[in-house]
Amino acid sequence: MNQYDVTVIGSGPGGYVAAIRCAQLGFKTALIEKYPNLGGTCLNVGCIPSKALLDSTEHFHNAHTTFKEHGIELSDLRINMNQLIDRKNGVVKANTDGIQFLMKKNKIEVLRGVGSFIDKNHISIAPTEGGEAQQIETKYTIIATGSKPTVLPFIAQDKERIITSTEALNIREVPKHLVVIGGGVIGLEMASVYARLGAKVSVVEYTDAIIPTMDGALGKELKRVLGKIGIQFFLSHKVTGATRAGDVVTVTSTNPKGEEVKFEGDYCLVAVGRSPYTQGLNLEAAGVQFEERGRIKVDEHLQTTTPGIYAIGDVIRGAMLAHKAEEEGVYVAETLAGQKPHINYLLIPGVVYTWPEVAGVGYTEEQLKEMGKAYKTGSFPFRASGRARASMDLDGFVKVLADKETDEILGVHMIGPRIADLIAEAVTAMEFRASAEDVARMSHAHPTYAEAMKEACLAATENRALHM
Ligand code: FAD
Ligand code: NAD
Repeated sequence: MNQYDVTVIGSGPGGYVAAIRCAQLGFKTALIEKYPNLGGTCLNVGCIPSKALLDSTEHFHNAHTTFKEHGIELSDLRINMNQLIDRKNGVVKANTDGIQFLMKKNKIEVLRGVGSFIDKNHISIAPTEGGEAQQIETKYTIIATGSKPTVLPFIAQDKERIITSTEALNIREVPKHLVVIGGGVIGLEMASVYARLGAKVSVVEYTDAIIPTMDGALGKELKRVLGKIGIQFFLSHKVTGATRAGDVVTVTSTNPKGEEVKFEGDYCLVAVGRSPYTQGLNLEAAGVQFEERGRIKVDEHLQTTTPGIYAIGDVIRGAMLAHKAEEEGVYVAETLAGQKPHINYLLIPGVVYTWPEVAGVGYTEEQLKEMGKAYKTGSFPFRASGRARASMDLDGFVKVLADKETDEILGVHMIGPRIADLIAEAVTAMEFRASAEDVARMSHAHPTYAEAMKEACLAATENRALHM
C-alpha cells in the first residue's frame, strides 16, 4: 500500500495549491481527483470559462456599440457561437494542462478516482470508469472537494433548457429570452454574456437588490448600467416554479404585491448559490462532522473534528471564491510544516466580472452602520477620470470608507473599468493598515484608472479630491 505524508482530495484551486505548497515544504504528497481534468470547478466550469466568454462577448458588444465612435467601421458583424465556445474550451484546456504540468514539476502523485475514507488514515480511490479501487495510507488529509450548484427543490432542472452555470457555459446558440433566477455573481456574469450577444435577458431576484452581499451602492450602479444593455430586473420576486414544454420554459414568481408574475423564455438559468460537495467521501468512517448547510466543520486552524484531517475552500464556511480556497490551501500546508500562517478573511476581495467590473474589500457601508462605527466616505466617479474618458468607460466610481478618528481605511468598493485588478491596491493598503491620506499621498501614474483610488482617498481625507 502506498504511503503519503499528505493526501489532498480534490484538484480545484484549493486542492492543487495545497498540494503544491505541501510538496514545496518537503511532504510526500498525493492528489486525488475524480474527473479526468484537474483544476476543479474554477478551471473547468467556473472562473476561467466564464471569463473567456465574458471577454469574447465584450469584444462583440463593443464592436457593435462603441467602435464606430472610435472611427472603426465594420460591416457584416456576426457572432460564430461554435468558435466562441471552442475558443473558451481551448482556454480551459490550456489551464488544466498547466495544472497537470505543475503536479509533475512538483512530484505530486495524481491519483484518478473518487476518494473515500476507509478510516482516519486510509483512503480508497475508486476509478470513475470502473475497475479495481486502490488503497493508500496517509498521515494527513486535506479535503478540498468544493461545491455544486444549489438546486431549488421545486424546480426540475433538465440541464437542457432549465440549466445551471455549467450548461450556461456551453450553449451553442444565442437564446431568444434567457430567464435568470438569482441576481448574484453567476446570474449577472452569465446575463451579461448573453445580453451582449443580443438575447433578451430577465433577472428574477428574491431580495430587493442585485449582488445583495456587496456594498449597496455597487448593486444600484450595476443595475443602472446593465439596464443600458437591455437586462431587465425583477427584484423582490420570489420564484415559485419553472417548467418546460418543448423549447419553452415558464418561470413563475410572486411579486411584492403578492401577484403571480410569469416569464416565458427558451432557457432558464438557475443561479441561486452553490452547496458544499461531500458525496462519496464517507466522512463518517473518519469521524469528520458537519456544521449547518452541509459544510464540513473546521476549527480556526481549518482542522476538522478529526485530528490530522483538514478541509479548505468551498466545502467549508466563508466566501466561495477561488482565491479564498488557495489561501486556505497554503495555510494548511504551512500549518502542517509547523509554521504559523495567517489569513485575514476581511481582506479577501470579491469581484464581479461584468462590464463595468465590480469589486469590494473590507467592511461595507451597511456593515459599518450596523457595527455603530464612526466612519467617513470619499468617492470619485470615473466620469471625472481622463483615462476613463479616453476609453469611453464613464460609468461607476471608487468609494473609500475610512475610520472617522484615525483615517484608517475600513473598506473600498469600486465599480468601473478594470477595477478587478485595481482592487489589489486596496487590499495592499488595508493589509498594511494604511490611512486614506497614506494612499492619497502616493503617486499614481497618469492617466490610469488607478487615479480614481487616489482621488477617492483624497475625497475621504478632508474632501480634498483634485479633479472634481
Ligand atoms: P472546486 O474547484 O469545486 O474543486 C473540487 C474538486 O474536487 C473537483 O474537481 C471535484 O471533481 C473534486 N472532488 C470532489 N469530490 C471528490 C472525491 N470524493 N474524490 C476525488 N475528487 C473529488 N471564484 C472566483 O474567485 N473568481 C471567479 O471569477 C469565479 N467565477 C466562477 C464562475 C462560475 C460559473 C462558478 C460556478 C464559480 C466561480 N467561482 C469563482 C467560484 C470558484 O470556482 C470556487 O470558489 C472554487 O472553484 C472553489 O475551489 P475548491 O478547490 O474549494 O473546489
Ligand atoms: P450568489 O449567492 O452570488 O447569488 C445567488 C442569488 O440568488 C442571491 O442574490 C439570492 O438572493 C438569489 N436567490 C436565492 N434563492 C432565490 C429564489 N428562490 N428566487 C430568486 N432569487 C433567489 O450565488 P451564485 O451567483 O449562484 O454564485 C455561487 C457562488 O459562486 C458564489 O458564492 C460566488 O462567490 C461564486 N462565484 C464567484 C464569482 C466571482 O468571483 N466573480 C463568479 C461566479 C461565482
